[in-house]
Amino acid sequence: MTEQLVKRVVIAGGGTAGWLAAAALSRQLGQLLDIVLVESEEIGTVGVGEATIPTMRSFHAILGLDEREFMRATKASFKLGISFENWARDGDRYIHSFGEIGKSTWMGAFHHFWLQARADGIDGDIGDYCLELRAADAEKFATGENAPVNYAYHLDAGLYAKFLRARSEADGLHRIEGKIAQVERDPQSGDIAALVLQSGERVEGDLFIDCTGFRGLLIEETLAAGYDDWSHWLPTNSALAMQTESTRPAVPYTRAIAHDAGWRWQIPLQHRVGNGLVYCSDFLSDDAARDRLLQAVDGKPVTEPRLIRYRTGRRRKVWDRNCIALSLASGFVEPLESTSIHLVMIALTRLMQVFPFAGINPATASRFNDQARQDLEGVRDFIILHYHLNQRPEPFWQRCREMTIPDTLAERIALFREAAHAYQAGEDLFRVDSWVQVMLGQRLQPQGHHHLARILGRERLGQALADIKRNHDRTLAAMPQHQRFLDAHMAG
Ligand code: FAD
Repeated sequence: MTEQLVKRVVIAGGGTAGWLAAAALSRQLGQLLDIVLVESEEIGTVGVGEATIPTMRSFHAILGLDEREFMRATKASFKLGISFENWARDGDRYIHSFGEIGKSTWMGAFHHFWLQARADGIDGDIGDYCLELRAADAEKFATGENAPVNYAYHLDAGLYAKFLRARSEADGLHRIEGKIAQVERDPQSGDIAALVLQSGERVEGDLFIDCTGFRGLLIEETLAAGYDDWSHWLPTNSALAMQTESTRPAVPYTRAIAHDAGWRWQIPLQHRVGNGLVYCSDFLSDDAARDRLLQAVDGKPVTEPRLIRYRTGRRRKVWDRNCIALSLASGFVEPLESTSIHLVMIALTRLMQVFPFAGINPATASRFNDQARQDLEGVRDFIILHYHLNQRPEPFWQRCREMTIPDTLAERIALFREAAHAYQAGEDLFRVDSWVQVMLGQRLQPQGHHHLARILGRERLGQALADIKRNHDRTLAAMPQHQRFLDAHMAG
């Protein structure tokens, strides 16, 4: 354990990660700590990261954010899930929604009932029994007691950082504009002692939070924490991002549309649409990717396509000495399930729970590292699932289908294939319903299922399923279109 008390926290970088750290720490622990943030407008931010998952709402509650204020400031829209198009085969479509499907029992999840119904010749998609999925499909949305949906947001990343900055500064955070030219280490302990800016200013601290993006200026370029490369499992390495004008009412879901060497996203906001093309440069040149994106987008471009390169993998230690890396500095798995901002939030929540006021303790750092590893490996496996279970003919997809996958994922696929079992263990992010929606959506057909539904018999099973559908029909009928609800919510 280091003897030094931790009083002064220095956040390096002011992208989404840096400003989330600033907002959370200054709101929750500002009375106990001095917190500064250093960022360089000249370097700028990665400028993407606009789709989220429902956990964001809990974190916003920790920050004490008002939903309307946040949505107005970031031009946000509501999100009920992700529409996967052309993934297993061209022409396929399924929605991975945030909702609960049907009603599960302690013995078996709802999909076992649905599989039995299908075996008994009762018609219907599994998505028919999920309110969020049906609302997404119908482009409807509402919140409140009469529409108990689980939802997240699409937001403007630049505006979100600005919003969090205003919030943090109001809570007493001190921001320093400048380029970090050097990271100074204590000659005795080897810990980070200060950031030296190009202007010559020294910014000293006890704990440093590295939010400098992919380069990891502190965690990697200074402390050499190491990186596990996962590109053999997730071979995309490039993204082109561009913004366009909206051409239609905003849909309450992200679109993820597969193409021959990756996929394309579409994220509708209040004032524009975020678009991007994710690809593997071994299979598609940058020029061809650019042409493809420009041809695929609907609206008039607001920005030119901007190229972002990345290497999928994880930092071996995200907490090393007196430095903690967040988001892109801590590792990266492509944004197919919109998980990066969530991972920042969960890491910050844990940091606040174990904050090392009395000095940095190796056991605390070690557990934090273990949790971060498990989080990212869980996301990694879930993303690989989308790529691996495909029946597309192109060489990129063939490679994904034939690659050796992590044992942890191979076991999950075998469990589902054999007997339709899926599980959410410990601190796993993805729910049983998430695994089920994606496995079925990627055309993995279970060979068996639990027979508990046979106790009901065909008729009662059919009635039970029809009841669920009827309840959802009633709720859906009363829900307005998403765009109408959004307009009213923003005006209210
Ligand atoms: P950055 O935004 O890169 O910020 C780095 C900061 O460090 C900047 O302020 C920069 O100025 C500063 N900095 C760097 N070097 C110096 C220096 N020498 N001196 C001073 N300052 C410095 N996440 C999601 O949750 N949902 C999504 O839909 C999603 N989509 C994504 C799409 C793509 C293509 C990519 C690449 C990522 C996506 N992400 C998504 C991840 C998301 O973008 C990041 O989690 C988020 O933006 C946080 O980034 P960051 O703050 O770590 O880095």
